[in-house]
Amino acid sequence: MELKLYNTLTKTKDIFKPLEGNEVRMYSCGPTVYKDATIGNMRTNIFQDVLRRVLKYNGYTLKHIMNITDVGHLVSDADEGEDKMIKSAKEEGKTPLEIAEFYTKRFMNDLLSLNIELPEIICKATDHINEMIEFVSGLMEKGYAYETSTAIYFDVSKLDEYGVLSGINLEEQKAGARVDIDQEKKNPYDFALWIKAPKNHLMKWDSPWGVCYPGWHIECSAMGKKYLGEQFDIHTGGIDLIPTHHENEIAQSKGLTGKNPAKFWMHGEYLLINGGKMSKSLGNVYLLNDIIKKGYSPLAYKLFCYSASYRNKINFTWEAIDASNKALIKLKESYKKHFEGNENVQDEIINNYENKFNEAINDDLNMPLAMSIVWEVAKYSVKSKKLADLLLKFDTVLGIKIDELEENNEEIPNDILELVEKRKQARLDKNWDLSDKLRNEINEKGYNVKDLKDDMIVERI
Ligand code: AMP
Ligand code: ZN
Repeated sequence: MELKLYNTLTKTKDIFKPLEGNEVRMYSCGPTVYKDATIGNMRTNIFQDVLRRVLKYNGYTLKHIMNITDVGHLVSDADEGEDKMIKSAKEEGKTPLEIAEFYTKRFMNDLLSLNIELPEIICKATDHINEMIEFVSGLMEKGYAYETSTAIYFDVSKLDEYGVLSGINLEEQKAGARVDIDQEKKNPYDFALWIKAPKNHLMKWDSPWGVCYPGWHIECSAMGKKYLGEQFDIHTGGIDLIPTHHENEIAQSKGLTGKNPAKFWMHGEYLLINGGKMSKSLGNVYLLNDIIKKGYSPLAYKLFCYSASYRNKINFTWEAIDASNKALIKLKESYKKHFEGNENVQDEIINNYENKFNEAINDDLNMPLAMSIVWEVAKYSVKSKKLADLLLKFDTVLGIKIDELEENNEEIPNDILELVEKRKQARLDKNWDLSDKLRNEINEKGYNVKDLKDDMIVERI
């Protein structure tokens, strides 16, 4: 069956075939490890995991790389601002290396909790300084880069085309360009490949251009080329990476090798919180741990992500996570019922479900449609081991451990549940004083209640 994937480069769903043989070479932009990953970041990782799993379902093998950005990456995605790693190190009184190790471990734990398959190679930027220097030297030799008193810049005007992913028109942009911080830049869109380190800069390396540290974009180009070659099959990341990071990766590779490094560029859309952005100032930045602390399975979050295509925005609410958690438990119970069933189901029915599932996942990872087929099988009235096996096969794509029953992470004590029931009745009676009194009593015992439309959520404070 044909596998079609949406390619940001062509703006169409294209038929996917690996460039060479049966192996898919894929690069995913990984985290900058200076703070905890949010559930938004995890949405992008879940999208990449589904992609991996669908490729394997189609019989391909994978060579998948994810980088860990443990150096550089300035505060904004342009070339200005303070280094994120160094900023965190100062704030937490640690060295940048300690910060990177600490947050890398926590990131890996989140991947594990979400049952996300690890890429074949996970590589750190700081282990590839030489490859980056080589890349920048190559660009200098070919005339695509120039030195100023502060950095080595990539000269975008040297390319036939810049902005192939986002369709930037450089001529139009030039007219409205803001005054740049570095007056020595030749064009406003030129970006730093290699940055000269001020004396007290914490992370820096010797290079042909003095003591420097790398720009963010060069690390991905250098590591991609090292492990996957000049051109590979798929490059992935979050949608915010298109206009700067990925355009610049393409520019660098075209400069050095004359080729766009990837055939397919795939991007995951954003997770929204209550219809808007996640931000510290709004106090709505959630981590996977926040979901776990409320007694929900992390896999409920994965299931929640499957309610929309990776190319659509999705809105996070606690009500939706509550519903996904219930759905996860039900799905696993349904699997068990089939597993214990002794009835027979015709092969034709099994094949039909399998074909429909294949069609859904091969249509640009249509998980909402795939899930509707999973539910049809789960709810099938005849209980049969054949259907359990089919669900297990589907789970190689879903990765929700369908054959392992969910443990209720935290049991709410009976006395709290009694108070909650009393409060539900008080609200039905519109006895708001009693309802408030009961809420306070519940709070004093260390629990919180949240009122939903027709229900309440109880959680530890
Ligand atoms: P950052 O930590 O901002 O460098 O982001 C790491 C990855 O997570 C990038 O690929 C981003 O596109 C992605 N990302 C960040 N925020 C969100 C969000 N709210 N929803 C989905 N992906 C996100
Ligand atoms: Zn990258």
